[in-house]
Amino acid sequence: MRNIILFLAVLACAAALRHESVAVLVKDEQHLQHLTKVVHARKRVEGSLEMEIVVTPKEKETLELHNFQLASIPPVVPETSIRTKRDVNSDDIAPHDYHDNNAIQSFFAELHKQYPDIASEAYSIGKSVQGQDIWAIDISENVEKKGKLEPEFKYVANMHGDETTGRELVLSFAHQLCSEYSKNNSRFVNFLQTTHISLVPTMNPDGFKLSQRENFRGIDLNRNFDDHFKKRQTAMQPEVEVMTRWIKSRHFVLSANFHGGAVVANYPWDGLSNGQFSQGNPSPCPDDDLFKNLASVYSENNSDMKNNHEFKDGITNGAAWYTLYGGMQDWNYVNADCFEITLEVSDNKYPPKNELAHYWELNKESMLSFAEQVHRGFKGVTTDAAGKPVAARVTVSGIDKDVRSRNGEYYRLLMPGTYSVTARSNGYPDLVQSVEVKEGQVARLDFVFGAENQTSQYSLRNVESSSAIDLGVQVFPNPDAESRFPYTVIVFGIFVVVAVIIFLVRNDRAKRFVSRHRETFAMFRRIDVFRQSLPRRLSTDTASENLTYRALFSVYKQTAALPPENAFSMAIDLSQLTEQQKGYAAVVGAILFFGSFAAAVPLKSRRVVKANVDPVVFQVYYSISIFLSSWIVLAWAHDEFRFTYYGFISAACWVPASILSIFAINHLGMSVAVGVWAGVTIVVSFIWGAFLDGVQSPRYSYSGIAVLVVGVLLLSLSSSEFVANLGKKKKDQNSTVYTPAYSPIHETSPLLHGEDKPKAINVDGSRKSYNDEPALPIGEPKKNSTIGLICAVLLGAMNGSMLVPMRGAPKDIVITFVISFSIGVLAITPVCALAYFLFRRQRPVWHVRVALVPGLLTGLIWSIGNGFSIYATTYLGLKLGFPLTQLALVVSGLWGIIVFREVTALASLVWWFVSLLVVGGGVALMVLATI
Ligand SMILES: [Zn+2]
Repeated sequence: MRNIILFLAVLACAAALRHESVAVLVKDEQHLQHLTKVVHARKRVEGSLEMEIVVTPKEKETLELHNFQLASIPPVVPETSIRTKRDVNSDDIAPHDYHDNNAIQSFFAELHKQYPDIASEAYSIGKSVQGQDIWAIDISENVEKKGKLEPEFKYVANMHGDETTGRELVLSFAHQLCSEYSKNNSRFVNFLQTTHISLVPTMNPDGFKLSQRENFRGIDLNRNFDDHFKKRQTAMQPEVEVMTRWIKSRHFVLSANFHGGAVVANYPWDGLSNGQFSQGNPSPCPDDDLFKNLASVYSENNSDMKNNHEFKDGITNGAAWYTLYGGMQDWNYVNADCFEITLEVSDNKYPPKNELAHYWELNKESMLSFAEQVHRGFKGVTTDAAGKPVAARVTVSGIDKDVRSRNGEYYRLLMPGTYSVTARSNGYPDLVQSVEVKEGQVARLDFVFGAENQTSQYSLRNVESSSAIDLGVQVFPNPDAESRFPYTVIVFGIFVVVAVIIFLVRNDRAKRFVSRHRETFAMFRRIDVFRQSLPRRLSTDTASENLTYRALFSVYKQTAALPPENAFSMAIDLSQLTEQQKGYAAVVGAILFFGSFAAAVPLKSRRVVKANVDPVVFQVYYSISIFLSSWIVLAWAHDEFRFTYYGFISAACWVPASILSIFAINHLGMSVAVGVWAGVTIVVSFIWGAFLDGVQSPRYSYSGIAVLVVGVLLLSLSSSEFVANLGKKKKDQNSTVYTPAYSPIHETSPLLHGEDKPKAINVDGSRKSYNDEPALPIGEPKKNSTIGLICAVLLGAMNGSMLVPMRGAPKDIVITFVISFSIGVLAITPVCALAYFLFRRQRPVWHVRVALVPGLLTGLIWSIGNGFSIYATTYLGLKLGFPLTQLALVVSGLWGIIVFREVTALASLVWWFVSLLVVGGGVALMVLATI
């Protein structure tokens, strides 16, 4: 029932996001302009005051309140199969039809076949939500290798799926470059000799297919980039991630992206420094003069744009038109030092195909003239005295914006004038040089750091000859690294934990200290036991001990020898990770903490075990801990408190699931119960993900999930009596069979520790005899595997749905969600606990002195794991991120095997490792599905 309610809740939230097309009748031209700034205009009905717009239900309500006349329009039926073949040999460059994604790829492939020296192969820079390739092509003389100081230029179109004109313009532009070059047209030859051009006809293939502005998930990609004025409000979309990663891997200097719905060249900033929304307030960036000039070059060559009475000279500052945050042009300027403008090239966003040729005629000269602007200002190399590339920042007097060198090259586009230039590089004194920039020329200014006499070389020339010289790699990491603090702390924390464990296990003094304080450090006693049980030769082998320390020390020394800001980035430069890689890092964190929670390290002290605390009592302590720790996260992130009911729904899934685990274990036995619910969790979470996002590579995805489920089931069985008895003679059973007290278990089953207590512990710990099957609760004298199975499946389903509500949660998803979840846990736990104790007809015994602190600690460990799992799901989705966190089974198994020595039977160990291989295979398939 709870699942049905949740399902309905998610459906309702999906419906709320749905946009609707309506026709609106306005009073006058001014009114209409005002309207297009507020809502997404789709199409204007020629010669009338009617406009087709896309609105959310809320926007619709607002418009109706303001007495706009609205009429619903049925949704546009997407043109099903657009597939044109362009003839690469034809002289007719103009577009006459739309190309679907396959047609784009095959056209690029044809270009490469016909002009292999100047057109690269079609390459995909990444995939859309629905797994469509985002195609690109590079065009340049000697296209395989970017020449020395050859600037890179790019055009990106169709990031709004229903703004289609640019998509075809870019294809025609590619065609024209190749065709005119091959005819020896000197302007084109010159341009391709000195420039490396990259073209992306569509950034949003899913949106084009659906003929909608947003991507498949309904997110506007031009609001989804990181903004320097305002925090991003939605999770970064795959298309945006692909684009930013690609741009960061290259060295673009100038670019434009194509839109429709107006006719104007729009330049930064799009946002205001105060983060507010407004119209009519220009927000000039440091290079305002240059941007005005660049935009004018485009508009002056396009008669429609130039003569557009709506905008003076056909250009506008972004914020002066209307503010937006998270746009691509501002991101390029700030993060890639790439001067990007936004081109609106047709009033009709999706013109009929017979009008495309007209738009090509209007734009073709503009497209080339604008691209040629990449050769202005000055450029050069930044090296040390030996000629090795050095990372540097180049600043120009009077302009508060530096450009960074990459691979020892930098480019600075500028207006004509005389400038004082400063180049800075870590560890060297600043170099200062004056430079004169002239119209139609590009100056060259090289900076040599650390040389005695010569500080810079200065020469002026018109064009560079493109010689393919590989300058090697940068010496310093890219300085545009974001704050690495949280990742650094996590990496360091894991490092310390590993070091401490090795220390405790291998160090004699630590061993003596622990044994002197046996009572106080009851939990470490097991480590002591482990050490005693190690083969004698190994434990006294000082050489191997020394080796371990030496290895650790050398890693530390290497790390510490680096400058502090580079120390960790050199080891692992986490800021350079893609969202996907961050997702995998979060999976590892979740597995480590969930696994340690499941092994319930703090609960293993003898006092706690002896007290036989009811698992639900622990659940109450966890809920307090989860609640408190979420506020620490909030304080640490300097965020304000916000609440979302979605977090509450998530908690309503988790708490009852946690209590169900007790019954599942009691009726099925721990091994089977854990296997069943972890398997169901993986499948349910995957189904949610597939239902909400679609499946990319079905073959890999489905087989990966199947293998993973089998692996998890096998893994959990490795601790069962059945496996331990394999290969054993029956008569030995009573004396030698060891069955673990704390088997590898799933993270949501903290509660079984009290139930699953050891029956006896010998003080020397050498021979223990535990019972795998926990004592039955009072009042339930008989095991009922059907009830157990129902509980395990239900719990798996709730578990797998636990993070689904995250999809509906707004703004700064992680922190808001964590805190709302923790409030939910604190509120729901007492209710469930009350129900549980009433059902059991028991009075709770709180064991405050013994159980409170270990309970709080264990809750904290779970809480951290939960934070990671939310990050993993944010970055990798419900299909991949959440299922992978179920591999906590591996870590809890490792605790059981290595530290607590709970699994010793050879058959169990072999079974465990084989299961691990199966799990690994499943994970590999699932990861393959995303590539
Ligand atoms: Zn647009």
